[in-house]
Amino acid sequence: MPCDFCHDPKPSLMFPARSFIVDEVRGVAEAHGTDLLSSSGWSACDPCAALVVTEKFDALIRRVMRLNPALEGERDNPAMVQLLTDTYAQFRAARTGPPTLIEAP
Ligand SMILES: [Zn+2]
Repeated sequence: MPCDFCHDPKPSLMFPARSFIVDEVRGVAEAHGTDLLSSSGWSACDPCAALVVTEKFDALIRRVMRLNPALEGERDNPAMVQLLTDTYAQFRAARTGPPTLIEAP
């Protein structure tokens, strides 16, 4: 299970969150094949987790746009930036507590 933000293969933390559906950007999400449903917690690698904890979501979005292989070809797409902005705002509101360490398998 990779980092839910940048797809780093070894996330270290799990942010507990309620499940939610990315409603307002459904069309954009479908066009780009991204998940519409966020189910429960979000995993994060150390750099992404640091940006979440400090609420530097603009920097997090720049990082995700640069590193996430699923966004290859979307680097300059303002609609994708907007999708991430809206999705992370929903995630931020859905968070239920402090992150927990992910145990190594
Ligand atoms: Zn990450």
